[in-house]
Amino acid sequence: MKRALLWASTNRFMSERFPRYRFVRRAVRRFMPGEEMGDALREAAILLDAGIPTLVTELGENVDTAEAARVVVDEYLLLAGRVTARGLDTELSVKLTHLGLDQGVDVTVDHVVEIAEAAPGIVWIDMESSAYVDATLEVFREARARAPNVGICLQAYLHRTEADYADLLPLSPAIRLVKGAYMEPPEVAMAEKREVDAAYARLASRMLQDRRHGRVDRPCLATHDARLIADARRVAGELGLDDGTWEVAMLYGIATGEQRRLADAGVTVRVLVSYGTHWWPWYVRRLAERPANLGFVVRQMFAR
Ligand SMILES: Cc1cc2nc3c(=O)[nH]c(=O)nc-3n(C[C@H](O)[C@H](O)[C@H](O)COP(=O)(O)OP(=O)(O)OC[C@H]3O[C@@H](n4cnc5c(N)ncnc54)[C@H](O)[C@@H]3O)c2cc1C
Repeated sequence: MKRALLWASTNRFMSERFPRYRFVRRAVRRFMPGEEMGDALREAAILLDAGIPTLVTELGENVDTAEAARVVVDEYLLLAGRVTARGLDTELSVKLTHLGLDQGVDVTVDHVVEIAEAAPGIVWIDMESSAYVDATLEVFREARARAPNVGICLQAYLHRTEADYADLLPLSPAIRLVKGAYMEPPEVAMAEKREVDAAYARLASRMLQDRRHGRVDRPCLATHDARLIADARRVAGELGLDDGTWEVAMLYGIATGEQRRLADAGVTVRVLVSYGTHWWPWYVRRLAERPANLGFVVRQMFAR
């Protein structure tokens, strides 16, 4: 089922047809407050009142032209301005194929730097499918040399990630660690969940130790996995890391009770709020992470 859903996430026919159905649009609301920038900002303000900072992203990937990438950059500049004007504790998260990576590395670096210069906090670069990892790391390194407030996401499921992580350490980077959300062949990524969880635990523990020694600037553990978060809290405690020197990130609408509990316990939890009209591939990846979510979609078919 997981593989079928990951296939559906990249299927053009489905991505053009399914979002038109009202029950699908109702189901997606569970994971995003709305399609407009204002919807995400409203939710960011509500979460901030509850002591939870946010990340905001405009959904979209693989734009076809340089002009389309420019439109996306302008959207992020507007978003950065609105975040600053409202005094929100909100950082930005971007996908490089949305900012023109298929059109070239240099133009994408310029776009990331332009957004970072306008953004109040870190601009986090998402990691997409494995075909883009080399180019994404290249853009990150070049952008980071020009703007210090750029962070990078690494995926624990890739066999290469431990080596990539070690290569990045001299930059003392901001790193967001995720398990990985794409369909990848076994030569590229671990197939067994057990293996991925173990790799995540290893890297998370290394990131916290490297934070202790000043080799990682912002370790961000982006996961809803309660066991991994409990492990990380234990390791952070043993290392004497203060709350606020490392953080957890979760997605809007997932494990919301846990978000609250962790925030109440003093852990920094940043919630990623998404908006935009191009939500099909992103949404179906969320279904693939937990196929039981399909039950919710089916229930929306019969809801009034
Ligand atoms: C802030 C953030 C940024 C991310 N950025 C990227 C990125 O740039 N690149 C990338 O490849 N991936 C990214 N991801 C997705 C990530 O790779 C995983 O696919 C996703 O987080 C699910 O894995 P998990 O760590 O929560 O662990 P899992 O083992 O999948 O889940 C642990 C538990 O969390 C709950 N849960 C997890 N997912 C869901 C869901 N969709 N619906 C309901 N419950 C769920 C379930 O209770 C599950 O048992 C990001 C995730 C987060 C939180």
